[in-house]
Amino acid sequence: MPETRLKVRILGDPVLRKKAKPAKEVTAEHRRILNLMAESMYGSSGIGLAAPQIGISTRLIVVDIGEGLYKLVNPKIVKRQGSQAIQEGCLSVPGICIKVRRSKQVWVEALDENNRPLKIEAKDLFACVLQHEIDHLEGRLIIDYTSFLEKLKIKRKLAALKKNATAAKLQL
Ligand code: ZN
Repeated sequence: MPETRLKVRILGDPVLRKKAKPAKEVTAEHRRILNLMAESMYGSSGIGLAAPQIGISTRLIVVDIGEGLYKLVNPKIVKRQGSQAIQEGCLSVPGICIKVRRSKQVWVEALDENNRPLKIEAKDLFACVLQHEIDHLEGRLIIDYTSFLEKLKIKRKLAALKKNATAAKLQL
């Protein structure tokens, strides 16, 4: 594990609940942060990471589901279609797995790391991860998708998490 890797923020950290601010234009500093995020994601065996997860409240995400790295600035879902429910984990909510219903296909507009507009058409797992990461930019977490009863069930687990946050299965 490289020492430079940033610590991923865990549930209970207020930055995870803040709505992230858009980048006016993509700067060298954003590129530096995106690189750190990618490093952090790969170092945690994740397939996606959003800037608030490393304590930065800016609309930046990285995604790699095994088909190459995407570094996206100000990503926005412009169209969605269909529905799917996938078991999701989250690097910021370690040890918890929740089935989340999301769109099966999404069209995302963003800027790439060189400030150029980018359009992505994503489906299945890729669509799921993009929605998960964009949720982070809104301060939304997978636990927000659980029903009241499910929430009661995992309440104890979550309370323990908030106290001591070093855990097992890390993904998004
Ligand atoms: Zn997450």
